[in-house]
Amino acid sequence: MSVINTNFAKLPGNYLFAEIAARKARYLADNPGARLINMGIGDVTRPLSPAVIAAMHAAVDEMSKAETFKGYSPDGGYPFLRELISEHDFKSRGADIAPDEIFISDGAKSDCANISDIFSPDCVVAVCDPVYPVYVDSNAMAGRAGSYTGDKWDKLVYLPCTSGNGFVPELPSVKADMIYLCYPNNPTGAAITFGELKKWVDYARANDSVILYDAAYEAFISTPGVPHSIFEIPGAEYCAIEFRSFSKTAGFTGTRCAYTVVPKKLERDGMSLHAMWSRRQATKFNGVPYVVQRGAAAVYSPQGRKETEETIAYYKNNAKNIREILQASGIKCIGGTDSPYIWVTLPSGLDSWTAFDRILAEANVATTPGAGFGSCGEGFLRLTAFGEPDDTIIAAERIARLLK
Ligand code: PLP
Repeated sequence: MSVINTNFAKLPGNYLFAEIAARKARYLADNPGARLINMGIGDVTRPLSPAVIAAMHAAVDEMSKAETFKGYSPDGGYPFLRELISEHDFKSRGADIAPDEIFISDGAKSDCANISDIFSPDCVVAVCDPVYPVYVDSNAMAGRAGSYTGDKWDKLVYLPCTSGNGFVPELPSVKADMIYLCYPNNPTGAAITFGELKKWVDYARANDSVILYDAAYEAFISTPGVPHSIFEIPGAEYCAIEFRSFSKTAGFTGTRCAYTVVPKKLERDGMSLHAMWSRRQATKFNGVPYVVQRGAAAVYSPQGRKETEETIAYYKNNAKNIREILQASGIKCIGGTDSPYIWVTLPSGLDSWTAFDRILAEANVATTPGAGFGSCGEGFLRLTAFGEPDDTIIAAERIARLLK
């Protein structure tokens, strides 16, 4: 018997972004004067909005007085925030999600990894390829992924997302118990239509699967008919859990606030997943700071909404510029319409790490190689719209010159 979780020993070496950082550091050490433009990392660059800052300042003042000081947050988060989310993010879109089905947390990353706690170690897990690596690694740690052989885990069901299927996968050919879907997608930037998502909900209901739906980029959706929540699809409350975040919506990557929706109607084997997640959080999580929850609530005020929309429009204008500059040079790319990511098709024969190295050295732009997200990402590059407008245009022009 081993005293440690030996699944950790099966994890492949470098985490994608650590490898990218190492290559960037090596390049800068060899070329000390170089100024790199970063189009690689998925972190926001705009500050918190004035409405959020004002609400957080006021909350700090409350914490300074005995009469208004707050200790531990209520389990699941403060009602003022859960009620705003229920109203603005769900009921306004026809999704009947109650405040107590919303669990406030410190991040969609931790939630989509921790959700694994309430599922059986024997579950068959399906993930998209390419994929946000957290779904894969967290299930590998829990022992559901099997062994890593070359570039795949032998017990995971991979759902290829290619130009052939518009980057929305076909239903799995084997029965999957847990299905991770992320739309708008990281890394491809693709969106899913109502009809396509309904197919997944119907599959999950027919097969007793649970869809783990990551909608961290929902705020970037602008195409009519693209659902903002899986709970807009009738019946999803019986087969889905949804993850949302204030990180990309409102610049909270360093402030930390997100939420997970577990409907009360979601049951398996006679157990309520809502009750299980509630129990899990009460045992292992002690809440998001009051000051931060007040900041998140301000995102829903009229001023907060206006400011948040302006920031999203700023990033989406960058995305539009990237797309247009690349497409004008005949380079194929998707995304950027309902997401901050642009997925670039590389010229045939150019692999994504070679393209990464060349663009770094010859264009002084840091990107993300598609292969880092899975084998179907080979031959692609991910660019992000988080950055300064002028730098974004310069970087896109340099990439276009190199790749055309
Ligand atoms: N889900 C996806 C698909 C992401 O790309 C990210 C961050 O890049 C997250 C979740 C993490 O969100 P959070 O900052 O709330 O942990």
